[in-house]
Amino acid sequence: MALLRMSRPLIPPPADFLFANAPNKMLKKSLDAHGIEAARWVAFVSPFTCVMVNTGRHKVLVDTGADGLTPNTGKLVRNLHAVGIEANDIDTVILTHAHDDHIGGNTDTEGKPAFPKARYIIWKEEWAFWTSEQPETVYKDEDFTFIRKNLLPIQHQMDLLDREVEIVPGVGAVPAPGHTPGHMAVSVCSNLRQLLCISDAFLHPLHIEHPEWHAAHEVAHEQITKTRCFLLDKAASEKALMLGFHFPFPGLGHVVRKGTGWRWQPI
Ligand SMILES: [Zn+2]
Repeated sequence: MALLRMSRPLIPPPADFLFANAPNKMLKKSLDAHGIEAARWVAFVSPFTCVMVNTGRHKVLVDTGADGLTPNTGKLVRNLHAVGIEANDIDTVILTHAHDDHIGGNTDTEGKPAFPKARYIIWKEEWAFWTSEQPETVYKDEDFTFIRKNLLPIQHQMDLLDREVEIVPGVGAVPAPGHTPGHMAVSVCSNLRQLLCISDAFLHPLHIEHPEWHAAHEVAHEQITKTRCFLLDKAASEKALMLGFHFPFPGLGHVVRKGTGWRWQPI
């Protein structure tokens, strides 16, 4: 886990960035209810919570973090080593999507795969979107440069998914498009208990109460709302523990139904 402080000019004020289409009055009411004063909320300070799953037979990494984005990111391999896991021990790396803060640790300082023995997994549409010539989008050229630096060197280790599958026993891919074209969630099951890694389908706990509020850089608005409702229903009905990559650390909690909507119960 590392922290990144994002403020102008990188992003607009967090309330405008995260809830770009929220009606002003309703947004203020929601922020007030959570003790957030929009005028004082000038930087989005976010953790980057990558997950290491040890199934006994497989060592699976979910996302590789924001290597190089700030001075305090880029410690994934060192932190794994500190808990007795070497880069060569990782046999599967699941990339939930290809935003720079999720794939930064794919390669080392020389641009070589950081996990040389791993099979890397990404959704087919996600790979196609970032590696092909793009029409005009909300993304800038430098986004594509960073992404290609961290995606192309691992292409010979890459498996592309086009359907919901079990990646290794107990760890499954759940399609969750909208944040990006091929964004996926990851389900980890053990002894009838489930952890649902939602990655960036929700960037902030308030998106659980308002799945219709999208962030400024998310373009498929109807799709992301649909994906969020699907994941909330799944998490609530299957009593899964949910993990938000950018939620306040450790980012874990449960979703409970509240009237016709949902509420976040962090643990
Ligand atoms: Zn993202």
